Amino acid sequence: LAERLQGTLNKITGKGKINEADVKEMMREVRFALIEADVNLKVVKSFVKTVSERAVGQDVMKSLTPGQQVVKIVKDELTNLMGGEQNPIQFARKSPTVIMMVGLQGAGKTTTTGKLATVLRKKHNKNPLLVAADIYRPAAIQQLETLGKQISVPVFSMGTDQSPVEIARRAMEEAEKEHNDVVIIDTAGRLHVDEALMQELKDIRELTKPDEVFLVVDAMTGQDAVNVAKSFDEMIGITGVVLTKLDGDTRGGAALSIRTVTEKPIKFVGMGEKMDALESFHPERMASRILGMGDVMSLIEKAQENVDEEKAKELEQKLRTQSFTLDDFLDQLQQVKKMGPLDEILKMMPGANKIKGLDNAKVDEGQMGRVEAVIYSMTLAERESPDIINASRKKRIAVGSGTSIQEVNRLLKQFEEMKKMVKQMTNMQQKGKKKGKMP
Ligand code: GDP
Ligand code: MG
Repeated sequence: LAERLQGTLNKITGKGKINEADVKEMMREVRFALIEADVNLKVVKSFVKTVSERAVGQDVMKSLTPGQQVVKIVKDELTNLMGGEQNPIQFARKSPTVIMMVGLQGAGKTTTTGKLATVLRKKHNKNPLLVAADIYRPAAIQQLETLGKQISVPVFSMGTDQSPVEIARRAMEEAEKEHNDVVIIDTAGRLHVDEALMQELKDIRELTKPDEVFLVVDAMTGQDAVNVAKSFDEMIGITGVVLTKLDGDTRGGAALSIRTVTEKPIKFVGMGEKMDALESFHPERMASRILGMGDVMSLIEKAQENVDEEKAKELEQKLRTQSFTLDDFLDQLQQVKKMGPLDEILKMMPGANKIKGLDNAKVDEGQMGRVEAVIYSMTLAERESPDIINASRKKRIAVGSGTSIQEVNRLLKQFEEMKKMVKQMTNMQQKGKKKGKMP
């Protein structure tokens, strides 16, 4: 299905003009993609509506690249829905910062506790204390202790005899004594949301006044994740979400639904079982993942950022009216160069990885640089009307640009040919128009 969506997108991005039917077709594909990525149906509906409205708007239809604009809107709106920006950890003004981990059994709380400690140590230079407050399974305490040893982070535990609230209280004292600036409390989970568990979590919360309450959710649970997130948020109040097991083949639609339903930011994603497999959540990347577009999106965005539409229109006009000069040629060259190394752009094109030898192929950027140098060495008059460039001028230009007369000649010839080609094209278009055909 991802392939189908990509097919539609490719079709539509290539189009110079699109109409409402095109947008409709595309929205149908986007809808499928979202539903297949396990996005909540309500969320899908309102999303498609918003995007459709923007897509049939005047700006898009009038633009030079409407297809690309629509694709961009889809991705922008998805990104916005997931919070837009990356959302960092909130630290307490006065140490220690308390982070409480909550969620269902098996979601990944204990593992994430260890991973989070790793991030805090490495990226934030913190000295965390981990607290084993899941007393219902002896193995849970052991699990955290083993992880702690592995990453050399202290673990506070009191076995299974004390209540989790008491453990939390003593852990806070310990942190004070040992100067730990972050306390991460790993709590118990159940197989489903239950009253007793919620009460216990509320009590821990009351006592420790956490700066962050992270709900840990298994991304593979899809739709269920939304209900879980809703219950936890209503009953104890969460400040953020950690989405685990995204290294699996889930499309991550849960991220979109959870964010929309709870309005709480997703802060991290778990990308594996190892202690270094926790990444900051980037809404934009998740948007690409959900849509299954990957590199195609980056390519479109590169083009979007760098090719100035006004300039493109102006250029087209000049080409048509034959007032295209070497200066314009230079301009065009620079637009292409702004997009980045040509061989990288080529690699991003869909299917380009299948072209043999592209890996070694280097597009000759030195050549482009020399063309630029040649044009820079010309006077304004020469750039406007290359006809006046005689032998002695050529010699001066070659010396000035550090190239050779042959290279100056080659450039002038290319320029002439390009003009000729444009002339032919324009003639053909005009003939077409006379016959009543569209160009
Ligand atoms: P808890 O019951 O919420 O504490 O869950 P655990 O931390 O014990 O994790 C349950 C299982 O999920 C363990 O086998 C973990 O190794 C695994 N797990 C946790 N996070 C991830 C993740 O991001 N990716 C993968 N592949 N497995 C994970
Ligand atoms: Mg656990």
